[in-house]
Amino acid sequence: MDFRFAPEDEAFRREVRAWLKKNLPSDWEGHLRDESGWGFARGFARKLSERRWVAPQWPVEYGGLGLSHWQQLIYNEEMSYHRAPLGYIAIGVGWTGPTIIIYGTEEQKRQHLAGITAGETMWCQGFSEPNAGSDLASLQTRAVRDGDDYVINGQKIWTSGAHHADWMILLARTDAEAPKHKGISYFLLDMKSPGITVQPLIDVMDNHSFNQVFFENVRVPKSSLLGEENRGWYMATTTLDFERSSIGGAAGALRLLEDLAAYVNETPRNGGTLVGDQRVRWRLADAALEVELGRMLSYRVVSLQARGVVPNYESSTAKLYNTEMQLRLAHAGLEVLGLYGQLKPKSRRAQLRGRLERQYLWQTAMVVGGGTSEIQRNIIAMRGLGLPRG
Ligand SMILES: Cc1cc2nc3c(=O)[nH]c(=O)nc-3n(C[C@H](O)[C@H](O)[C@H](O)COP(=O)(O)OP(=O)(O)OC[C@H]3O[C@@H](n4cnc5c(N)ncnc54)[C@H](O)[C@@H]3O)c2cc1C
Repeated sequence: MDFRFAPEDEAFRREVRAWLKKNLPSDWEGHLRDESGWGFARGFARKLSERRWVAPQWPVEYGGLGLSHWQQLIYNEEMSYHRAPLGYIAIGVGWTGPTIIIYGTEEQKRQHLAGITAGETMWCQGFSEPNAGSDLASLQTRAVRDGDDYVINGQKIWTSGAHHADWMILLARTDAEAPKHKGISYFLLDMKSPGITVQPLIDVMDNHSFNQVFFENVRVPKSSLLGEENRGWYMATTTLDFERSSIGGAAGALRLLEDLAAYVNETPRNGGTLVGDQRVRWRLADAALEVELGRMLSYRVVSLQARGVVPNYESSTAKLYNTEMQLRLAHAGLEVLGLYGQLKPKSRRAQLRGRLERQYLWQTAMVVGGGTSEIQRNIIAMRGLGLPRG
């Protein structure tokens, strides 16, 4: 075991860091999920594309740089640490593209991959439905074959970014008689197709980031089917594996921890500073331990990938721990800041620019998205410990 990165990997980290310094405003706060934020994220994606850095981990023939898994981790860590706005490209790069690379036809690869790496096309994910979240295979949206088309009717929910997206990865039922996992197909759907209605859902942060999407007799050509009809579930699990092994989040937590450490060092309390309070010191020391552990769990996933092993319950472990750790960290931050921590960024008295209030609400959502903590625990119990299904 060698805990050092290779010199060329360290050089790559310095390069990404310098680029981010140049291309993000000096007072960049990240987490802009309002309309101006989406516009900024789109422009940022275009800038990344000039370096082939939208999806640098993809093979060169698909518009990437063929980065090693460790370099991809470094890229993710730097983006996360610097709070880079990747929301516009995340679904296309992180899970749509890799699924198309594995299962798509040459025609589908030609049609879709270049748009993603150019930072031009935004994707959304139409998986969850009002009665199909954790039990995704219960989904009811129907796709019925009609000549050379499929006709889609039904509803999706929690569809992040659907109001800006050009395309959607969509799961729909094509065989209502088959066992539930065996009657689902996977489509690449043009969001401009007639019959699609997108309705906003305003989240706890007061942002419009996810939506309900309704389909009324939406016609899609047969060529938009990914892989074979009724085999969609198996491709969807690949997509979810990519989603859960999105790694590097602990670097964002490290940044927040550094902010908190600086804050307690500078904030007067009882004739000294907050750092003199033993409880505050212990709280931050515990947080530091957890951030480090989260980082190691992510590194374990990468080390498997680097050896050509597909991570299994290890991705669930990293997802579970890192999202819950970031929620605990945000909570610790709220406590350290006292009532100031609960002020919104626009408040004159907000400390650390209202970051803690934003982080706490955001991390509350993160333990649910991509499969809830309970589902990750089930996976770890079954696949990691070999326990029977509960
Ligand atoms: C910020 C955010 C963005 C999202 N974006 C998208 C998106 O773009 N596209 C998309 O398709 N979906 C998206 N989702 C939806 C997400 O995938 C679902 O919320 C998630 O899968 C959980 O489903 P649910 O909300 O229906 O909860 P449910 O499945 O109804 O679960 C409710 C509660 O019951 C628990 N539970 C359920 N089943 C079990 C079980 N077997 N064992 C133990 N506990 C169980 C859950 O853990 C949870 O606490 C997003 C969610 C969030 C928070």
